[in-house]
Amino acid sequence: MKAPLCHWCGNGRLRPTPWFRTLSCDVCRVGSADLNGPAFIGCCIPFCRASRGDRKGDPLTAHMEWICSRHWRAVPRRLKQRRASLRRMEARTSDAARLQRIHAADARAWSACKRAATEAAGGIA
Ligand SMILES: [Zn+2]
Ligand SMILES: [Zn+2]
Repeated sequence: MKAPLCHWCGNGRLRPTPWFRTLSCDVCRVGSADLNGPAFIGCCIPFCRASRGDRKGDPLTAHMEWICSRHWRAVPRRLKQRRASLRRMEARTSDAARLQRIHAADARAWSACKRAATEAAGGIA
């Protein structure tokens, strides 16, 4: 049987994961218990099984990444502050080139968050 097409990103296929009653898209990583079930995403730290669904004011989107609260605690405060200040800059500007630079800086800051959380998790994940 061909894996069903992901309806969150429309590109990937929903494939079974090693976890009970869980499918996950191989492109956007959104998961679901079944095709029509509520969507959720897993913590992006390797081997972490925490997951979340839609949140008020923060709905799931395809390709979204999320770090669970347990792993988020391991992220240095300076990185969190960096992302908060980028978000404030983003809110203040409407200049497209500047927004692009802010988004690129935020993507780098986010990778640093993931790296820090993954390193801190080494062994305990
Ligand atoms: Zn997808
Ligand atoms: Zn986690």
